[in-house]
Amino acid sequence: MQTPEPCDILDILIVGAGISGIDAAYHLQKALPKKSYAILEARDAIGGTWDLFRYPGVRSDSDMYTLGFPFRPWQADEAIAGGPAIWSYIRDTAAHYGIDRHIRLGHRMIRASWSSADARWTVEAQTKDGGIVRLVCRFLYMCSGYYSYEKGFNPEFPGVDRFQGPFVHPQQWPEALDYAGKRIIVIGSGATAVTLVPALAKEAGHVTMLQRSPSYVVTRPTKDAMAIWMNRHLPNRMAAKVTKWKNVLYSITMFYLARTKPETIKGLILKGIRQQLHPDYDVKRHFTPRYNPWDQRICLVPDGDLFAAIRSGRAEMVTDAIAEVVESGIRLSSGTTLPADIIVAATGLVVKLMGGAEILVDGVPAKFNEKLVYKGAMFSGIPNLALAFGYTNNSWTLRCDLTARFVCRLLKYMDRKGFSICVPKLPEPSVNPEPLLDFSSGYVRRADGVLPRQGQKAPWRVPQNYVKDLVAFTFGSVSDGTMNFLRTSEADNASRVGDVHLKVTI
Ligand SMILES: Cc1cc2nc3c(=O)[nH]c(=O)nc-3n(C[C@H](O)[C@H](O)[C@H](O)COP(=O)(O)OP(=O)(O)OC[C@H]3O[C@@H](n4cnc5c(N)ncnc54)[C@H](O)[C@@H]3O)c2cc1C
Repeated sequence: MQTPEPCDILDILIVGAGISGIDAAYHLQKALPKKSYAILEARDAIGGTWDLFRYPGVRSDSDMYTLGFPFRPWQADEAIAGGPAIWSYIRDTAAHYGIDRHIRLGHRMIRASWSSADARWTVEAQTKDGGIVRLVCRFLYMCSGYYSYEKGFNPEFPGVDRFQGPFVHPQQWPEALDYAGKRIIVIGSGATAVTLVPALAKEAGHVTMLQRSPSYVVTRPTKDAMAIWMNRHLPNRMAAKVTKWKNVLYSITMFYLARTKPETIKGLILKGIRQQLHPDYDVKRHFTPRYNPWDQRICLVPDGDLFAAIRSGRAEMVTDAIAEVVESGIRLSSGTTLPADIIVAATGLVVKLMGGAEILVDGVPAKFNEKLVYKGAMFSGIPNLALAFGYTNNSWTLRCDLTARFVCRLLKYMDRKGFSICVPKLPEPSVNPEPLLDFSSGYVRRADGVLPRQGQKAPWRVPQNYVKDLVAFTFGSVSDGTMNFLRTSEADNASRVGDVHLKVTI
């Protein structure tokens, strides 16, 4: 390691140049033009998810009118868009607003240390050549996503080393992988598997989607006819607003109905599936989950492409457990062996917060699974730090955008009042902590030791509802009695800020 460079001092340091980092930078530039900021990005490119994932067919699974930036609405006719188009859109937006000039590529934040006496974060970032760059900032804004970029979740499949062909994970798709005419098994039942199967089936000899248990799968049109009509006939901004609200309210309603009338929604989803498959198809076995809709994320297939691939015979579903991987394929618990030239493990992500960096508050490492989220954006006892964390039941960006606007309000308030420190402080008696995400998905359960907790009511509760959040973030008072504000001179005794988290009993 090289000696750290001299310090830069910034008002705000954003970590991550994906959708949420670019969105955050836009709002900071607009609301607080005099503040200095930089964006640290670990990779050599911006775009985050949409630059990393390169597997065939990679696309959004929520509509771009809500996943896109509200200040630069998505204009293309495709509501469900391909990865490369989303990547170009993020890159063009960063260039359009001059945000790209603030991005320091190839800088991975590895540690951030808060000092209450100085009211500052000292951030260490590792560069590609192994050097360490040190920066100092007053506010740290984590837009680093929610999963590990190093590798996806790869369960141990017995016998995997014996397999003669390529065994790939979609997060590290080999660019040169030739799958034309090949027999492919895609292991998985989530969004990635349902995206990959029809895309691979276009060129592969045959594709098998092998799942241990089914997920709910819903068909939506790639193009939103109403959005296209509005884009043609209404002024751009108005069309974007109407389409956004149409889609937001649709998602909220469907989620609400799924939670209140699960049998009705389940019936509708299964009916939709039956209509797209042969009457004899075993929908019960392959498409009827054991859980209720929205107990886990629902998979979206644009224009029913997965069902078309199954109908054509180029793809098939197999619902069974893996006994072992053998030289030429996978042997199932039922005794059948599925032959394969290529195996794809679409087995999910590894949840990771804070970009994997170590966070210290006055020398004490912060344990985020022992923290409560404040407005789903900050943490009990962690000063001057926000996190962009989107929705699990709606487009991610909707919540990140609200968070960015809230951070601007918070910083403006502190400027006006002369405060240098803000820290959410738990009321007494301590809130009873619950898991942050009310989902039974594997990746959520695996992340239990990583994710922070939530309480029973605002501001410690994440409602997973855009309308409620919009009201709370926009109209809720910044000085709500839960957020503690301090001037630097008041914080020289570190415990005044740092002890807050000690009162959390989890
Ligand atoms: C294949 C796929 C499809 C998806 N489709 C949808 C969808 O349709 N709708 C939806 O709502 N959500 C979707 N998601 C979730 C998706 O990740 C978010 O929508 C969104 O792209 C996340 O944006 P982000 O900027 O918050 O995080 P990311 O896109 O993950 O970007 C985070 C950035 O932070 C950088 N970073 C991380 N750690 C550090 C560090 N320590 N130092 C410096 N930089 C760091 C990363 O390199 C990355 O560039 C999808 C996810 C995947 C994997």
